[in-house]
Amino acid sequence: MKNRVTAICLAVFFAVLLAAAAVRSRGSRAVMTRSRDAELTLIIDAGHGGADGGAVSPGGTVESEVNLAIAKKAEAVAAFLGIRAVMTRSSSDIAYSAKATTLRKMKAEDQKARLALITSTPNAVMLSVHQNTFPSPGPYGVQVLYAPTEGSEEWGKNMQLLFANALDVNNRRAAVLIPDSILLMNHIDCPALLVECGFLSNANDEKKLLDDAYRTKLAVILVAGFLREAPGLRAVREAQKG
Ligand SMILES: [Zn+2]
Repeated sequence: MKNRVTAICLAVFFAVLLAAAAVRSRGSRAVMTRSRDAELTLIIDAGHGGADGGAVSPGGTVESEVNLAIAKKAEAVAAFLGIRAVMTRSSSDIAYSAKATTLRKMKAEDQKARLALITSTPNAVMLSVHQNTFPSPGPYGVQVLYAPTEGSEEWGKNMQLLFANALDVNNRRAAVLIPDSILLMNHIDCPALLVECGFLSNANDEKKLLDDAYRTKLAVILVAGFLREAPGLRAVREAQKG
């Protein structure tokens, strides 16, 4: 209970602070006159799910569940701040068609459904939540990967910096371009980031990722990183409309 109260206080504190900074930086007049149609929709993608658990820690922590917990918190923070947000999944289960008879087909069908949701959402930008893993236990910390779409690189670099400043000053990682092999991130046209929130292969990261207050902190930073970048992301989406 104490943890939950602390987490909520922390979330509200961070969110209000960063929201105030973002509003100041973009100027109140622009906000007042902007039509609701130009507003961005933040798509929060909890990586994996259903038959696809993603990475698994040596202790048995399943990535898809950690992703979902953080994504749900991000959704709650976004709602608190009045940000229009959509989840690609809200539960552990995924309903597959009868045609999806193998894990590969299930994964493909799920990715296709997420892709359809993202491409059909006006003014979408996406944050995909994942956890990392490595063959040796050493590597730890947040790693931001950006899509090869307009606006993503700058957003990714700023998001990585925000994580360093707000979560771990010793994290000197730089944001990197997503590899070609990650299908979803390479088939969208909107600004998008995939944030690996930590390494399930690192015991300390795993312990933190299982902590409710830490998950809240991650979620707040994710949404704050969106909010800070929103004016630039909105300009990218407007320009794409021609
Ligand atoms: Zn993953």
